Amino acid sequence: MGKASRDKRDIYYRKAKEEGWRARSAFKLLQIDEEFKIFEGVKRVVDLCAAPGSWSQVLSRKLYLPAKLSPDSKESDLPLIVAIDLQPMAPIEGVIQVQGDITNARTAETVIRHFDGGKADLIVCDGAPDVTGLHDMDEFVQSQLILAGLTIVTHILKKGGTFIAKVFRGKDTSLLYSQLKLFFMEVTFAKPKSSRNSSIEAFVVCVNYSPPEGFREEDLYRLLEKVGSPSGILDDDHQDCSSAWLEGPNKVYIPFLACGDLAGYDSDRSYPLPRNPDGSYRTLDPVQPPIAPPYKRALEMRKASNHGVQVSLEKLGLDP
Ligand code: SAM
Repeated sequence: MGKASRDKRDIYYRKAKEEGWRARSAFKLLQIDEEFKIFEGVKRVVDLCAAPGSWSQVLSRKLYLPAKLSPDSKESDLPLIVAIDLQPMAPIEGVIQVQGDITNARTAETVIRHFDGGKADLIVCDGAPDVTGLHDMDEFVQSQLILAGLTIVTHILKKGGTFIAKVFRGKDTSLLYSQLKLFFMEVTFAKPKSSRNSSIEAFVVCVNYSPPEGFREEDLYRLLEKVGSPSGILDDDHQDCSSAWLEGPNKVYIPFLACGDLAGYDSDRSYPLPRNPDGSYRTLDPVQPPIAPPYKRALEMRKASNHGVQVSLEKLGLDP
C-alpha cells in the first residue's frame, strides 16, 4: 500500500504524522485517558514494551513537559517515566529508556532499581509479540507478556495504582479477567476508537491495585493457577469471577467499553485526503523511522554476502 493510500485508509496513521506521534498507537492511550482519566495525580510511570515510543511521547507530553515548563517546578518534582522494550528507541524528553525483555527477571530488576524503593502510580503495557496468525498461539504469547507485566506490577505498583495492558480477546479472556480481579478493584476491557474493529486487540484497564491480604510477590504464579482451577479462589474482598466454566445466569459478564469520542474518527473508514489548491497531496514521512528494524540485519547480511561474491571473483582474477 502506498503512503498516500495508507493516509487515506488509515486516518489515525495520517493524524499521528501530522501531530508528531511516532505511531498511531498514541491515540489509543489518549482515548483510554479520555474515558478513565488515567493521568490524574500520576508522578511515576512505567511504559512496558514501549518502542517506537508513541505511548512514551504521550506520557512525556501529558506529565513531564507540563511539569518541566511550570514556573515553580523543582527538578525533584519532575515525573519519573521509565520505558522498556526489546528494541532500542530514539530518545524522548523526560523518559528513561531500558532495553530488555520484560519476561526476564533481570529487566524487571533494572526497572525496580530506577524506582529506588519508591512505587509507580501507573504501569502501561502495549506489548505485542510478532503475530503468527495462529490465534491460540498469539493469544498465549500475548498473555505471557501480560503476566510479565503483572509480575512487575506486584513489585512496584503502589496500592491504589493503575495497570493498563493490551490483550487479544479470545477464549481465555474471562480467565484473565478473574486473575486481574484478584489484584484490582475494577477491571474493564476497553476498545479505543482508534483500534480497528477488525482487530481482536483490546486494552484491559485495571484500577485501584489492592492485592489480597498477605500476598507475597513470589506466590504470584501459584495464585494465578489457583484461579484457573475449577475450585477457584474466594475471599471476602476479592469476589470469585472465574467464569470460564460457568454458564447461563451464573456467568460473570466482563465489563467491556468502547472509548474515545464516539463521534470522532472511525479507524475502519477511509477519509478524503486534504488536497492543496492545485489538487496535489503531500504525504508526510513517519515521525521517527525505526532505528533498529528487523530488516536491518537482513540488509547487512545481503551486503556481506554480495561482498563475499565480489572477493571470490577478485581472487579468481575475474572482474566482479
Ligand atoms: N506502545 C508502543 C508505541 O506506542 O510506540 C508500541 C508498542 S508495539 C505495538 C509492541 C512492542 O512490544 C514492540 O516494540 C516489541 O519490541 C515489544 N515487545 C514484544 N515482546 C517484548 C518483550 N518480551 N519485552 C520487551 N518488549 C517486547
